[in-house]
Amino acid sequence: MNPVATKVAVIGAGISGAVCASNLAKNGISVTLFESARGPGGRMSRRRETTEDGKELYFDHGAPYFSTTNADVEDMIRGWEARGLVAEWKQNFGSFDYITKTFVNSEKDGLNKKYVGVPGMNSICRALCNETDKDGQDLGQFNGVVTSDKSTFSQRFTKVSGIPPPLDLNVMPVLADKVKEVPVRPCFALMLAFENPLSSIPLKGFSFENSEVLSWAICESSKPGRSTSSERWVLRSTEQYAENIIAQAGLQKPSNAALTEIAEELFKEFQRTGFDMSMPFFKKAHRWGSAFPATSIARDEKCIWDGTKKLAICGDFCVSPNVEGAILSGLTAASIFSETFSRL
Ligand SMILES: Cc1cc2nc3c(=O)[nH]c(=O)nc-3n(C[C@H](O)[C@H](O)[C@H](O)COP(=O)(O)OP(=O)(O)OC[C@H]3O[C@@H](n4cnc5c(N)ncnc54)[C@H](O)[C@@H]3O)c2cc1C
Repeated sequence: MNPVATKVAVIGAGISGAVCASNLAKNGISVTLFESARGPGGRMSRRRETTEDGKELYFDHGAPYFSTTNADVEDMIRGWEARGLVAEWKQNFGSFDYITKTFVNSEKDGLNKKYVGVPGMNSICRALCNETDKDGQDLGQFNGVVTSDKSTFSQRFTKVSGIPPPLDLNVMPVLADKVKEVPVRPCFALMLAFENPLSSIPLKGFSFENSEVLSWAICESSKPGRSTSSERWVLRSTEQYAENIIAQAGLQKPSNAALTEIAEELFKEFQRTGFDMSMPFFKKAHRWGSAFPATSIARDEKCIWDGTKKLAICGDFCVSPNVEGAILSGLTAASIFSETFSRL
């Protein structure tokens, strides 16, 4: 089969789908990328909010940054850095202990390089998507499919939407054996904007110890390439806090009233640190019902592949619950497809 005539559909324009699609395209395969959200990025998306008085605010309300120890992923990052899509965020993080009200375990210099998309975390996915077909007309038949979101085959999809998932694993016995339901860990993100810097807080990123409510805080406006016209923070709730709310309210989309209440609770916990902070002029919570997969379904294989159906499943849930795992999974799916089609 001529690779140029080969058409592959990639479902999901998060980082795994976007990396996979752009690598397939580089190998001469015609790729169409499908995304159900408003834009690319998935859990690396960037949230735009407009305040009542017309101020535009941007938040990386999913992954705030990423790191890697893998040489292939490092190579990709070098390429993205050269294109201005990624920058190193040179900040040392630590942990704040609610009992002693002090910072403990501050990181040593240069221990762990942190990367961010510029000007937002979604910049990488956006750029990679531009390397694939954008024409949504007359899509025709595909020779293969890559799906990069577990909701496309998960029973959880039905619990949330009331309809069957798009992929019916009953007709794919090879995959059904390998793909079990992926348990997930939820969290809430709280986006905050202040007129003035929170200068009493010495670190720009830290985890919390001894809090049942908060697990992380990141100063969004301290990342490279961000507007500094306001001080913006993104806080992350603990998994347990989010589990408790979901257990009471269910998996359906939370109401605005519920999100306002949650935003208030998370902010109160932030105030409990004792740091001097004015009231934010913007405060909004977002629920990530499936923030982190709790298992890896492919491990060393890095993606699931059904050669008979020409179907690959990739995503962080195949490798590890982070950007590095998602990139590795997308890369692997692309190379399996490329090899398969070059042999045909
Ligand atoms: C709050 C939070 C904090 C995080 N912190 C970090 C961190 O510090 N470091 C780190 O490395 N990682 C972090 N992560 C994890 C990281 O964001 C993910 O591991 C990674 O982005 C997953 O990428 P993915 O491509 O596998 O999945 P996703 O980003 O979820 O992409 C899947 C895409 O598929 C789309 N989709 C779903 N169904 C369909 C359909 N039927 N048709 C078309 N499209 C569909 C979705 O809309 C989505 O865009 C964090 C995540 C969250 C939520």
